Amino acid sequence: MGIGFAEDLLVCIALGIDMADCVFPTRTARFGVALTFQGPVNLRMSKHATDFNPIDETCPCPSCADRMSRAFLHHTITLETAAAHAVTQHNLVFQARLVGGARDAIVAGTFPEYLRKFFRTYFDDTGYPEWCVNALRSVGVDLLEGDPTAKIQTGAGAKWERAESKDQELYPITG
Ligand SMILES: [Zn+2]
Repeated sequence: MGIGFAEDLLVCIALGIDMADCVFPTRTARFGVALTFQGPVNLRMSKHATDFNPIDETCPCPSCADRMSRAFLHHTITLETAAAHAVTQHNLVFQARLVGGARDAIVAGTFPEYLRKFFRTYFDDTGYPEWCVNALRSVGVDLLEGDPTAKIQTGAGAKWERAESKDQELYPITG
């Protein structure tokens, strides 16, 4: 229960856990945060106000497939329940893609490579959470293999786009 962050799910899978349940993808959607393989996207931030791209060009969810724009979601996410539903659909599809990819990689015998690719894409600019590096080393996966200069961040390691104003400081969200 309560395992919902992408990095938490993948580390737990690597440690042998194959079931998780969490409000995170739906609750965080209601707060305007879309999950992507490049890290969570806070749609409430003003930089999305004129971005007419979908949340993720590669995502097959109904919102992205219909090219619902980040700009539309930015302007409606806190006003219209339908916008929260759209981001909720996206976040659930993101998590299905994340763990489906893990399943496929385990079957193919390429799970360590899957983990390295995910962490490189998701945390490249902020650095890998130290606890993830250590936890994965304990099961024989070295995230730094082939990338010895990768940054490592201490602490909880959550990666969030920061809110812009006091009333938007809802992040990071736990649970
Ligand atoms: Zn989507």
